[in-house]
Amino acid sequence: MIIREVQAKTILSISKIRDYVVNPYIGCEHACSYCYARFMKRFTGHKEPWGEFVDVKLNAAELLQKEILTKKMGEVWVSGVCDPYQPLEAKYGLTRKCLAILAQHKWPVSVQTRSPLVLRDIDIFETAPTFEVGLSVTTADDSIRKIFEPQAPPIKDRIAALDTLHKAGVKTYAMIAPLLPGAEGLAQLLPGKVDHILIDRLNYHSADWIFREHNLTKYLSAEYFSTIAAEISAACKKSGIECQVLF
Ligand code: SF4
Repeated sequence: MIIREVQAKTILSISKIRDYVVNPYIGCEHACSYCYARFMKRFTGHKEPWGEFVDVKLNAAELLQKEILTKKMGEVWVSGVCDPYQPLEAKYGLTRKCLAILAQHKWPVSVQTRSPLVLRDIDIFETAPTFEVGLSVTTADDSIRKIFEPQAPPIKDRIAALDTLHKAGVKTYAMIAPLLPGAEGLAQLLPGKVDHILIDRLNYHSADWIFREHNLTKYLSAEYFSTIAAEISAACKKSGIECQVLF
């Protein structure tokens, strides 16, 4: 793993998905096989494989402190092209510092991660009513998780994190994306732990070879994606959870 400490030029960037996005890191130790953020390599000049480099934006909080005073308030996504709670965050605390600034200024924030390290910052979330916290969960089957996301935390730890946050009164959501084999089991695991659920299919082809290698290609079909999304949506309806299918 190549870790570089860098000085960023800007941190509160315009986003197509939300109003703004804050990425305290470039690169991600979780190295998920299907990660759409691989495209970042093109813009940052990295030649290393995705998951083998992280640039740490040491001045992220200082930049945000200044930029927040000059930009119109809008919803901030933390983070778009890295996991804000990848293991390095335990050492650097950049995400925590940025979230504290956003909370202090009462900006609406959507945090999204695959890591229970997010619980470290529960004190910020508990006092920030404009925040929501989401955990990405792609399957209920941890043996499938190990195939596609071997470096990311186990599914049960992510669901336990959602449970803890929700019980603490934090608005929570599950991002079921991309739908991986075994995702249907999530319909039983999430009720009572989330306020809403978002579902998306696999939109990039970087992991197709893994499906082939493990004889899982039937899970790549449009039919599988719509059947499972409909199944999870129906279960959510029964449990009174808002569910949005994004494809
Ligand atoms: S955690 Fe997110 S950003 Fe990191 S590798 Fe996985 S999909 Fe990509």
